[in-house]
Amino acid sequence: MSVSFHLCQPGGGASCGACCGLYNFRDHSRAALTQRLATQTARLSHAPRTPEAYGEAARELTANRDAPALFPIVRVCPLLGFLDAEQRQVGCLGHPKVTGGTDLRDCGVYRASICETFTCPSFGWLTDAQARLVQAACADWYLYGLVITDVEFVRGCLKLLEWELGGPARPEALRERPESLLAVRRLFALKETAPGRDGQASVFGRFTHDTEDEPVPRTLDYAALGTPAAPEDDVVLCLGYTPADAPALLAARALVKDHVRAVAATFPA
Ligand code: SF4
Ligand code: SF4
Repeated sequence: MSVSFHLCQPGGGASCGACCGLYNFRDHSRAALTQRLATQTARLSHAPRTPEAYGEAARELTANRDAPALFPIVRVCPLLGFLDAEQRQVGCLGHPKVTGGTDLRDCGVYRASICETFTCPSFGWLTDAQARLVQAACADWYLYGLVITDVEFVRGCLKLLEWELGGPARPEALRERPESLLAVRRLFALKETAPGRDGQASVFGRFTHDTEDEPVPRTLDYAALGTPAAPEDDVVLCLGYTPADAPALLAARALVKDHVRAVAATFPA
């Protein structure tokens, strides 16, 4: 299993900058990230396209960044920005295709050769059909990056859907039917819209900090919660919920289940 097309800039409204540190902040809301990307884009748009000028701009942007990284071990690159005036596509402002030929990625937080060749685990773990479904359902830079990088979330949603349908949930079929695709978008968009996740500042999806500030996967303490495990729990964790008690966990499961059922309801019985 692996993806045969490039996940970073697949087109159709989807684009990703997750491995450039886009979401690596406590406040990784769309509004906060839009503001940061706009600041970086504006600053770099005034910089001459030379290593010296880009290096200076990158240092200045990093020094003036308004928030620390959530996971310090994951670098945040100041060369990430919007590739278009409408702020619909996120991407590397040091890439030669963007600068008009000069490769300025060495001015970012990695060497250009790493930026050029890096592929995140989703390239290996998602199928083409799963990735194309995410691309079609999340045709915007904010949601696409959140979902395409969370293999467990995508797989977990499709597994729940299979249980609901009592048979295979083919990503191709979900993509081809407009009403199904819209319902899938609402399910995946829970990454942005799910309520009641406030006050969980050190959590990013399935991950939290360990004592060394390294990201570590979270689990649910079923004994403390007083409830057994349920099939929705992987997705609940990927959404960033840290339920303090059984009612909170049950509410999060119900939210997921409702959205999965809404997708299933778009298929004839
Ligand atoms: S996180 Fe993956 S899909 Fe996103 S830009 Fe990086 S390599 Fe590409
Ligand atoms: S220089 Fe590398 S890390 Fe920085 S935005 Fe470009 S691709 Fe991402």
